[in-house]
Amino acid sequence: MSDDKKDSSGIHVVLLGPPGSGKGTQSPMLVKEHNICHLSSGDILRSAATAQTPLGQEVNKIINEGKLVPDDLIVELIKENLKRPECKNGFVLDGFPRTVDQAKQLDSMLSQNNKKLDRALHFQINDDLLFERSAGRLLHPASGRIYHRTFSPPRQSMLDDITGEPLVRRTDDKEDVMKKRIRSYHEQTSPVLKYYKDRNILSTIDASLSKESVWEQIKEILPRKAL
Ligand code: ADP
Ligand code: AMP
Repeated sequence: MSDDKKDSSGIHVVLLGPPGSGKGTQSPMLVKEHNICHLSSGDILRSAATAQTPLGQEVNKIINEGKLVPDDLIVELIKENLKRPECKNGFVLDGFPRTVDQAKQLDSMLSQNNKKLDRALHFQINDDLLFERSAGRLLHPASGRIYHRTFSPPRQSMLDDITGEPLVRRTDDKEDVMKKRIRSYHEQTSPVLKYYKDRNILSTIDASLSKESVWEQIKEILPRKAL
């Protein structure tokens, strides 16, 4: 069946979890299963940070300090990206919202378009595991494809499987920055879990298991809709 005929009912999902919990790893599978778009707020901001403009430099600085960019900036970028044609069927938002204010702004953005969020998936994992995951993370910047030196290595060392282009380490995956990112998750993002729990759309998965087991849990929560 062609992709444009597949599952036109779509779903609207957000992924919540600390840095390194596996949100970006699971997202492409959700895209394939539900024929929706994947918006990673981190990828969008990393791309903005490459611009040699005052805004690009400021974003780059904030990312490397392990802090969050201002709510209004990321909300505006997400709003723009949601207009992409591949998002018409639904989306998986990975790394957004990260504050209660962002969650509220997302709700009003959706209600203006007569849409609503179907589910918030909470990737639950102990902080200890996050350091090993981020220390080995490798990124193909152009596509956002993610590898891990040990857990998910590329076929050829430091090269993307699809394009053969070089993989990079993220500058914010250093241990000292990771500590700050994890702290910001607990302080600023964990209240978002309650926000969605109160609205009865929060599901928690055990993100410490293998990539395959995590995907099995997600499929149980979000089964593919009948065609
Ligand atoms: P996030 O998007 O939540 O920051 P990623 O998806 O980028 O996290 O995953 C962080 C690192 O951990 C990557 O190197 C990825 O390959 C690896 N990883 C992701 N999920 C798992 C898993 N279930 N088990 C082991 N390693 C994983
Ligand atoms: P990520 O790729 O999701 O780990 O995000 C990388 C960095 O981008 C974060 O540490 C923040 O500095 C910034 N960032 C990503 N998403 C958001 C967001 N929703 N709100 C504010 N800052 C964000």
